[in-house]
Amino acid sequence: MARPQLLLTPGPTPVPPEVLQALGRPVLHHRSPDFAEVFAVAQERLREVFRTSNEVLVFTSSGTGAFESAIVNLLSPGDRVLAVSQGEFGERWQAMATALGCEVVPLTYSWGERPRPDDLAGALAESEAETVFLVHSETSTGVVCELEPLLAVCADTGALSIVDAVSSLGAVPLETDAWGADVVITGSQKALMTPPGLAFAAVSGRAWERTATARLPRFYWDWERQRRVQAKGSTPFTPATSLVVALVEALELVLADGLEAAFARHQALGRGTRAGIKAIGLELYSPDDDSAAVLTGALTPEGVDAVALRLALRDRHSITVAGGHGELVSRLFRIGHIGHIGIEDIARALTAIEEELRDAGVDVEVGRGAPAALEAFGSVPA
Ligand code: PLP
Repeated sequence: MARPQLLLTPGPTPVPPEVLQALGRPVLHHRSPDFAEVFAVAQERLREVFRTSNEVLVFTSSGTGAFESAIVNLLSPGDRVLAVSQGEFGERWQAMATALGCEVVPLTYSWGERPRPDDLAGALAESEAETVFLVHSETSTGVVCELEPLLAVCADTGALSIVDAVSSLGAVPLETDAWGADVVITGSQKALMTPPGLAFAAVSGRAWERTATARLPRFYWDWERQRRVQAKGSTPFTPATSLVVALVEALELVLADGLEAAFARHQALGRGTRAGIKAIGLELYSPDDDSAAVLTGALTPEGVDAVALRLALRDRHSITVAGGHGELVSRLFRIGHIGHIGIEDIARALTAIEEELRDAGVDVEVGRGAPAALEAFGSVPA
């Protein structure tokens, strides 16, 4: 019998059964008191997860849409943006802002590097940009940057920060208000354990002030209209009401043991995954430390095609892992450890990887990765 795919990808991620059940409830109308009630709870829980007292805007879109909403509500044609990039998604935001008519000043690092506060300070002084893009967790490489000092640099110069937290929010610590982030963007389909289709933007008071003078064209993404209608318990256009219902369930689970417990679990899952990968004898691509709590990137041995390995995992073991981007496509695979997964899922994947490598002629001993992962994971509650 075909098994459902185990999604060990950094999004979409598996969702808990309670969330799937919530999706099966009768559809709510978006202009009804029933929906307004659910939406209010979603708002309250989102604020807790973002660690903000500000409004969190809810869009029916993917994370990319919410990032576009930030650009068109905060910038005018020709405005200069300092766009920090250390991988695929930073490059996407540079391209997006250029396409929308902004002047992009890139601060580009090699993939896998971490942005440095002094570089940012220098680039800000030189460019005099008043807006900065930052990617918290660069999903293409597994690198989570140290966001707090980067945000402090933005605050020192008065630049408005827009943070891509699509794969980090709920997975690793992010203090929207305490760290002074102006706009934080995320999506439903990653650490928030909800299917794809919703995206969120937490917006500071300073960012709201900027919207008054920003002149890029906007309609679906108009934050002001969004805020007005959200105050009445709905959204300007038909939202994915069933996803909002599911989100409420998911956030209850995320918050049940406190966010710190979720962060500790993701760290331990990362620790376990790295130990397993090393026990198999594979080289890590993502950092070999606890910052790599979102996903683990590993390289196949020379001559073993990572695409073929991923397809074999999918088709023979019902396990989906993510691939690499660009020139690393034939060597890199990425194991996500966010969402509704446990260390036993990682152990299953490690054994499947060993079997496939063995069948591809690699000298590996099947059965080393799983115990190493379980031991390194330790006794953190699942
Ligand atoms: N930013 C990061 C860091 C991501 O990981 C992703 C998705 O993988 C995105 C942005 C884009 O999000 P979406 O696919 O929801 O538009």
